[in-house]
Amino acid sequence: MNNSELIPVSALNTYVYCSRRFYLEHNRGMFEDNPHTIEGRTAHRVVDDRSKEGKEINKNDVIHRRSVYFSSENFGIIGKLDLLEEKENEIYPVEYKKGKAPNKNYAPWLNDQIQLCAQALLMQENGLKLPDKAYLYYVGSKKRVEIQITENLILETHRVIAACRLIAKSDVLPPLAENRNKCFGCSLNAICLPEEEETLKGKKINAKVIIPMSLDGDILYVDHIGAYVSLSDGNIKITKPESDDIVTASLEKVREIIICGPVQATTQVIHECLKKNIPIHYMNFHGKQLGVSTPFFNYHGILREAQWKAHFDDKICLDLAKITVSSKMANMKTLMMRYTRDERTEDDVDFFDKIKNLNKKIDPVKDMDSLRGYEGMAARIYFECFERYIKLDKRAFFYFKERNRRPPKDPVNALLSFGYSMLVKDCIGAAIRVGFDPFCGYYHSMKYGRPSLSLDVMEFFRQPIVDSVVLSSINNGIFKDKDFHQYQGVCYLNEKGRKKFLIQYEMRKKDLVTHPKFHYRMSYERTIELQYRLLGKFLLNDIDEYQGFYIR
Ligand code: SF4
Repeated sequence: MNNSELIPVSALNTYVYCSRRFYLEHNRGMFEDNPHTIEGRTAHRVVDDRSKEGKEINKNDVIHRRSVYFSSENFGIIGKLDLLEEKENEIYPVEYKKGKAPNKNYAPWLNDQIQLCAQALLMQENGLKLPDKAYLYYVGSKKRVEIQITENLILETHRVIAACRLIAKSDVLPPLAENRNKCFGCSLNAICLPEEEETLKGKKINAKVIIPMSLDGDILYVDHIGAYVSLSDGNIKITKPESDDIVTASLEKVREIIICGPVQATTQVIHECLKKNIPIHYMNFHGKQLGVSTPFFNYHGILREAQWKAHFDDKICLDLAKITVSSKMANMKTLMMRYTRDERTEDDVDFFDKIKNLNKKIDPVKDMDSLRGYEGMAARIYFECFERYIKLDKRAFFYFKERNRRPPKDPVNALLSFGYSMLVKDCIGAAIRVGFDPFCGYYHSMKYGRPSLSLDVMEFFRQPIVDSVVLSSINNGIFKDKDFHQYQGVCYLNEKGRKKFLIQYEMRKKDLVTHPKFHYRMSYERTIELQYRLLGKFLLNDIDEYQGFYIR
């Protein structure tokens, strides 16, 4: 048995909390932080002093050894003991916990007792005497609680070890936690999606919201030529050349940094962002993504394995692609209907019908080329009438005859192109966050530099997010001709125009939308992430059904 097959004693704690959580973390390598896990890590920093690791410290005849590793092939477990204390010829483990000690009328959680008992068993397996007591130290109240290592606790710990070893060898997803209140505090709830799973399995109609409706933190855009991004007292400091202007942003409140064009970021900023799992996206001024710095893909290997398997399965790819194209067409039609709500002509109705009829042809499609053909037809119809949704008095400058790109030739196409680039960037970010490889898709073919999966997932978000932002900001008079840079038949947003667009775009991402299947309200940016999570559950066979995202 090698070390990777041994079960960490902390995982026994996880199993007692919820067997599914143990499976997701241990078997599938999935992990997410939430305030509880961060608080737990912070609590351990008190005792995890690297300089004291393994060293013996003798103070007032009490000997301390910190971060002591033990393993047992016999039991199949491994563990790091926070603190091994020796006092009056007795040696026992002390486990650090976040939060406050329980009231004296209540016993500590069973999962914590099991973890401590497993540490005691490891001591015995490694030649020390089995202690008859051990301690939990609660950082929040700076208080120790004694745990008796009784026969019953040892028996229960052996039962838990055996159950964990069984699950570790299995590929069957355990059931959801019986006590569903646990899901609210569980850091894996956005991966496990218990409410959504039960809704998709038809066990309930409305899913309770147990995952946050919006993503925490802000996105920091830096697109001023020559700007310098550095660290100062743990905050981001941005200085502009030939200017005394200094902008600061708290790193704790930043979720992502977007650097556009020639902006310098120091190595300290990059290191700190890598440590804090804050991606830095590098883009050119036209919104083309050049790269992103993120920590290594530590987790979610099994998800990527499932993704690659699906990529090579023609049937799965075609099924997923049909779902994608069908919901994209439905969203095109819904957006068209929204913009003609007050005044609808026969031509408008004719356009809706054409898209609706094309959508009906998707289901029987047998190959990807035919599907792409129908998608192309729908896009032509959609963009043929796109100008109709721009107010008449705006059309002199914001005219639209056809979709053109690379480079865009007119202001509307410049806005659409920049918006789609931002959406690709967000879809790549969400793919990485969830654990997918953004370059391995099912509909867009594989091509050097093409983030196929992110392009697949963004298809049905183009209309409600980007097209909607472009149309509403033009109609509301947000953009003026001076926001664009036009030369030799090419048109781009200038710095001022980009700033205006990004404000509108970020506001749209935060707008709440009712989810078509789960009926709860959630921000668009969170919905993009949820879509990846559901795709992951489908590819891992946790759910039988995958759906696109529909607006109403
Ligand atoms: S969300 Fe609930 S069922 Fe899922 S792993 Fe967490 S506690 Fe278990």
